[in-house]
Amino acid sequence: MDEFDRIVETGQGKIFASSSIYETIKDLCLLGSRFAGTNSEKEAQEYLKNYIRDLGVEPIEHEFEYMGWYRGTCIFFLQAEETKPFPAFSLVYSPSTEDEGFVGKIVDGGGGSETELMRIQEEVKGNIVMIHSGQTEEGWLHRRIKYANAVEFGAKAFLFANHNPGQLFPTGSVRSNRMGEIPAIGISKETYEYIKEQIRRKEEVNGKIYILNHASTTTSKHIIWEIEGEEKEEVIVIGGHYDGHDLAQGATDNAGSVAALLELTKLMKEMNYVPKRTIRFIAFGVEEFGVVGSTIYVNDINVENIKAMINVDGLVGHIPKIVACGGYDEMFNLVKDIRDQLLYDPIVLKTIITASDNYPFLLKGIPNVCIYGQNPDPKSGRGYGHTSADTFDKITKLDAKLALGFIFSFLTLFVSIDKLPKRISEKEVITLLREANLEENLKVLEKWPFN
Ligand SMILES: [Zn+2]
Repeated sequence: MDEFDRIVETGQGKIFASSSIYETIKDLCLLGSRFAGTNSEKEAQEYLKNYIRDLGVEPIEHEFEYMGWYRGTCIFFLQAEETKPFPAFSLVYSPSTEDEGFVGKIVDGGGGSETELMRIQEEVKGNIVMIHSGQTEEGWLHRRIKYANAVEFGAKAFLFANHNPGQLFPTGSVRSNRMGEIPAIGISKETYEYIKEQIRRKEEVNGKIYILNHASTTTSKHIIWEIEGEEKEEVIVIGGHYDGHDLAQGATDNAGSVAALLELTKLMKEMNYVPKRTIRFIAFGVEEFGVVGSTIYVNDINVENIKAMINVDGLVGHIPKIVACGGYDEMFNLVKDIRDQLLYDPIVLKTIITASDNYPFLLKGIPNVCIYGQNPDPKSGRGYGHTSADTFDKITKLDAKLALGFIFSFLTLFVSIDKLPKRISEKEVITLLREANLEENLKVLEKWPFN
């Protein structure tokens, strides 16, 4: 057996003989949400650094400035039913209302695509538009696009309704690293259905919203560490965000992936594994505010020696895993080639994921993949993700071990590949994004840095 086979076999044996990853996920979840700007976020940073130091690796911090957002009060009810407020939460970067609140007619904006809002544009203007998180007439659209559409059509407030039942309201950011223009709140599917029925029965249903939030510039940190490779100067980044949303524990999104980064390091140190190339582990801060932290990171550093980037976002939680290859043909073919040697078959897609930490690396022309678990019901979208139900009790030991076993094979195979996909030029990046029909949406999202 050669050295590489020994590493893989020993590694897989250790993964399945121990429940270490499961316990680490639980530790991270019990620290709280790790939401940017909270004590829980700071505690997570300390936890990560201590974990790595105990393995004899010295982590570094990459500090950065961003627009912090702090949640205050959010009250929402129908004007005719003032004594019955609905459970509701502000979306990240929602501004406050005036002191006396905002009253407006509630208009059903369906999925919130341009097509749907165009039909009711006169009604949307000046009013509260209610949009669900499910499929639109134009296919799946990110929440930030739906919000931008609402702003564009002149709405004065944005109600974002879960399309999954369970009295869960969805959260997420409405802009990236800046305050939104109009108040935005998350409501449950049950609230949404109730209001829709009222709209059907009455000529006019008015909603009343009070929101008090605040924003100010603040700082966060990425926690970074490396395992030096034989070819020291060739760096493969594997990263995932450690921040979650404050209404839950962010168990699948993304404590599971961050725990995997820690466990991978532990395994590699225990086996004295020297990879072919240097592996740089990055626990990213402030992803949930619109991929803020990693966007700043790639602009702060010299990315010249970064040969590829592997992003894990939602790695633990569902099987099988999906490997999205950032639109790169070469990467797509390479992952298909190594598929048979992985712990089990993933779904390999050429797709470009733009709403996670791999995207800023793609903008620099760096070959990248985004790895996540496939939700068994695609119609449910994020499912429990971005709701108060994304908690550690949804994680099973078996899935946590399978996810770690999978990423362990993937990473060890990937760093040892003879010929990695080559970096592409800015012109080629633009072509890639245009061919995937992403240009228009990325411009709306303010994620198109080109002229
Ligand atoms: Zn995530």
